[in-house]
Amino acid sequence: MGKILNNFAISGNLSSRAEAVAVVAAETADAVDREARFPAETFLAARANRLLGMLVPRELGGDGASVSDVVDVCYLLGRACASSGMIFAMHQIMVAILVIHARGSAWQQRLLRQLCKEQLLLASSTTEGQGGGDLRKSACALEQTSSRIALTKTATVISYGAQADAILTTARRSGEALPSDQVLVVFLKDDYHLEPIMDWETLGMRGTCSAGFTLRARGGIDQVLPEPYQRIHTHTMMPVAHLTWSAVWAGLAAGSVERARRFVRAAARGAGGQPPSGTAHLTRAAMSLRSLRALLASALQRFEDAADQAEKLESLDFQNAMNLLKVNASESAIATVMSAMQVCGLAGYRSAGEFSLARYIRDSLSSSIMINNDRILANVAPASFLIEVPNWLRG
Ligand SMILES: Cc1cc2nc3c(=O)[nH]c(=O)nc-3n(C[C@H](O)[C@H](O)[C@H](O)COP(=O)(O)OP(=O)(O)OC[C@H]3O[C@@H](n4cnc5c(N)ncnc54)[C@H](O)[C@@H]3O)c2cc1C
Repeated sequence: MGKILNNFAISGNLSSRAEAVAVVAAETADAVDREARFPAETFLAARANRLLGMLVPRELGGDGASVSDVVDVCYLLGRACASSGMIFAMHQIMVAILVIHARGSAWQQRLLRQLCKEQLLLASSTTEGQGGGDLRKSACALEQTSSRIALTKTATVISYGAQADAILTTARRSGEALPSDQVLVVFLKDDYHLEPIMDWETLGMRGTCSAGFTLRARGGIDQVLPEPYQRIHTHTMMPVAHLTWSAVWAGLAAGSVERARRFVRAAARGAGGQPPSGTAHLTRAAMSLRSLRALLASALQRFEDAADQAEKLESLDFQNAMNLLKVNASESAIATVMSAMQVCGLAGYRSAGEFSLARYIRDSLSSSIMINNDRILANVAPASFLIEVPNWLRG
């Protein structure tokens, strides 16, 4: 893979480390997809380049990078291998939560230090039973006996559950709590046992290895994050998830446009400089990629502007914008990849070959169901009545 960074905004040191990891991800992407296996080589490289702790403050051993830096890396990895990019994104969402919401907990601060030292990989478990993507409701409940806790969860989807070093999971605060009265708990690998209940034989995102398990865990009460999940969700989980996921999908879309561009150049070379008839679709693909990148950049700016300001983060307008970013980004990514396929025609439709877009198409289709777009649109519908249409274009 050639140089794939343009106008990279993160610091030179971090960008070259990320670039080294992306090279490995690109080299192994097809094998990871074909074998539906964890991208072990990518994460060996991520550990060797100390990328897993990039968000953690310097005083705890990390790089003190920003969410924007992480989003850049998600784009880069998504372009190389969408499964690797998505695993990296899911890990960093959990790290962001610990950095932002566990400042007052000595146990969690120790965990962040350990994460940087040992380059621990964090997974997330929200999906439960047949509950689908409703993150704001849990069925399972924490059991507490003095300072000890225990949890059993039917965790129908945990990406890289078998490979992770720790899992952050939602649960009801207690057996008496309402489904929405949730906490977030960290369990280290030695604290839990995973019993497989569902495999991950899917169309795309095959390398995320998002199998289902019965999760049985035990730990200490200080493993529960000090803030309620409702606050964690609103301030960090939802916006950072939607920003990083969107970056992975934008990267994936960029990868498809790059293939389509190479197809056009090769076809033109073979036809005495005459571009193939599908070239107009390349313009369309490049156009939708451009608007996807702009959408993401403006949402990122908005998030960085609101960071640490509870009132802004909780505002209806901000929540709406971050929720709709996910819907918009997934639709644009799919549209971009489909335009790229139109450019390449049969060569793009084939499962293998230099211009195959099969992996890109299959991976991109996961974007609309990873928290179903229908669910998000239904949830934000009431707000659409309340938010006024702006009078001015700017401001
Ligand atoms: C690649 C990938 C990785 C994942 N990794 C993880 C992970 O690590 N941890 C984890 O916990 N989960 C993970 N998930 C699961 C994810 O968080 C969601 O739980 C899951 O995608 C929702 O699946 P669903 O569409 O079957 O469920 P639902 O969201 O329940 O949707 C089911 C159906 O109901 C419809 N629907 C739902 N709500 C509404 C509504 N309000 N109005 C109208 N229609 C509605 C939808 O259109 C859909 O047809 C992952 C998913 C993917 C694709």
